[in-house]
Parts: sequence; structure tokens; C-alpha cells
Amino acid sequence: MTETRPVTLIRGDGIGPEVSDAVVAILAAAGAPLGFEEVVVGREAEKREGDPLPPSALASIRRTRVALKGPVGTPIGKGFQSVNVRLRQALELYANLRPVKNVPSIESRFQGVDLVVVRENTESLYSGLEHTVVPGVVESLKIITEVASTRIARYAFEYARAHGRRRVTAVHKANIMKLSDGLFLECFRRVAVEYPDVAADDRIVDAACMKLVMAPETFDVLLLENLYGDIVSDLAAGLVGGLGLVPGANLGRDAAIFEAVHGTAPDIAGQDKANPSALLMSAVLMLRHLELGAHAERVERALLETFRAGIRTPDLGGSAGTKEFAKAVAARLT
Ligand code: NAD
Repeated sequence: MTETRPVTLIRGDGIGPEVSDAVVAILAAAGAPLGFEEVVVGREAEKREGDPLPPSALASIRRTRVALKGPVGTPIGKGFQSVNVRLRQALELYANLRPVKNVPSIESRFQGVDLVVVRENTESLYSGLEHTVVPGVVESLKIITEVASTRIARYAFEYARAHGRRRVTAVHKANIMKLSDGLFLECFRRVAVEYPDVAADDRIVDAACMKLVMAPETFDVLLLENLYGDIVSDLAAGLVGGLGLVPGANLGRDAAIFEAVHGTAPDIAGQDKANPSALLMSAVLMLRHLELGAHAERVERALLETFRAGIRTPDLGGSAGTKEFAKAVAARLT
């Protein structure tokens, strides 16, 4: 019998609990040997424990080394610092991996898209260093280090090599931010030399976006700093049918958190309309990470069968509710 793997569960806010419950139910139906340990973060944790990211939540992930996470809301323009950013920084989850691929039988504006966004997850404009210089003038610091830029570039090339990818494209704005983006690019180029079997090129971020919405099938692995990676991930999700379909993983040396690209979707929260596929696909990445490949394939097959049967949530033009969709996937586990 396979031993049960402990996994920290963060159900999250907004549609988080709905999609998390759907995914946990499908994983249970698939017989995945996972023992979930739930922790609460965000607004609720702030109310209860005075900190939106209580030490007990971090301790759980440090112990299990793996978390499945629903989206967590961040107050806009005020309030506590993003729990998502704090988690990634505290656990040094330096690589954010987001595979964006057409899903068979799902219509979208483009076909033939199969790219991977690799986003640096710990610094750049997400360092949270902002201050008012004088009233009416604020300064936000963009931190780029050689260590983090080299580490993420190496991750991108290693990923490319391990997954049979042909090319890594660094995306930057080094024509304007000559020092910061310049350093990011320089580290990329230095690392690229060590991987002669993987092609390397680079594009300025605005031109890359234009090319992405005209010929997305020409991209392979994209390597970006934190903010560009965030924006381009959502753009790329739109190419294949939207945020309901794109999974993600935050990976570090000692821990990994698997979560969808999407946020809490307050416009549809609590209405049984959310598409749980993105979190389910993140769970598939997690199963592979835990070397539970057979379970990953079963779940993935059942999801594709559900789509093939024409069962869809409203974001994909269907009428199935979150719960009904999850039941349909579970029923197709073979
Ligand atoms: P969002 O991703 O929540 O929603 C954008 C649009 O996509 C909305 O119309 C929403 O209904 C739709 N959508 C998203 N996920 C969907 C799904 N699974 N099924 C169907 N439709 C879906 O982005 P937002 O509205 O800009 O952000 C809302 C909140 O989420 C903010 O507080 C933000 O900070 C937070 N957020 C959290 C994470 C995270 O936890 N990693 C990521 C992004 C945003």
C-alpha cells in the first residue's frame, strides 16, 4: 500500500473554498494517498489571530513541504501585505511555473499554444519596498539581484532540458531599466551558455506581448521577472480559454505550493459557477511532484473526458455548476 503524503490545504477566499472542495473531492475519488492538513490564512486569520499569515500556517507547510492552495484576496491600495507574496518569500519559492496549453475539445481564439511561463517569484517590484518621499511623491523599489536572476534562469533551462523544450526566451525591459533588467538579462545570457542544447533568445516585454497575441504558438519557455510574469501569465491564460484552465506551481528547494493562476473571482464567488479545472490541473502537477504519476494521469484523463463530453462551467460557455462539474469528473475516473 502507498503511504499517505501529508499536504497542507489552504482553501482560500472568494471562489477558493468552492474550487478547493471540488478538487479535494475528485482527489479522494481518485484514491490519491493524500492526508490534508487545513490551515487558514488571509482576512479570516487576521481577524482570528492578528496576522493574515499566522506562524502555524507557515509551520505546517515547512513540515509537509507541499501545499495545495486556493486563491487568497489582497486588499487593494491599503491593508495587509499580500499573503501570496509573503508565502513565496518566506518559503523561498523562487520559481513560479505556469504551463499554458490548449485543452483538447475546448474552443479558444488560438490553437497550437503550448508554452510555459517561468516567473521569478521573490523580488523585483514585489519586494514591498514603497515609501512616501514627500507628500505627493512615492517611491517603489525594484530589487533585482544576481543570485535570484541566475537561480531562476538556471531553473528555466533545467526545466527546458528535462521536458524536451527547445527554447527559452527572456522577456525584459532592459532598454529602459538598463541596470535592473539589464542585470536580469545578463544573468540569463551567462546561464544560457551552459545549455548549448537549448536555444536562447530575448524580447522586450511590450513586443513580446504583441507577438503573444498574434502568434502564441511560436513561444516555448518564457522567463520573466516577477511583475512581467504576473501580467503575461493572465494574458497567456486568455489565449487558451481563460483563467479557469491554467495551473501553477511555486517551487523552492524545501517546499512547493500548487495553486491556479486565477484570483478569488469576487464577481462569481458563492454562486457555484467557478471552474475548478485550473486548481485541479495544479493538483495534477502536485501529484507528479509527489511522484504519484499514475494518479496524476487518471485525474487528467477524467478531466479531459469531461470536457470531451461537452460538460463545462459557465466561463467556458457551459451551464454546469462547480459541484456538478466535479461530480462529472469523479464519475469519469477509470
Ligand atoms: P481574478 O483572477 O480573481 O478574476 C478575473 C476574472 O476571471 C473574473 O471575471 C473572474 O470571474 C474570472 N475567473 C477567475 N478564476 C475563475 C475560475 N476558476 N472560474 C471562472 N472564472 C474565473 O482576478 P481579480 O478579480 O483581479 O482578483 C481578485 C482577488 O484575487 C484580488 O484580491 C487579488 O489580489 C486576488 N488574487 C489572488 C491570487 C492568488 O491567491 N494567487 C492571484 C491573483 C489574484
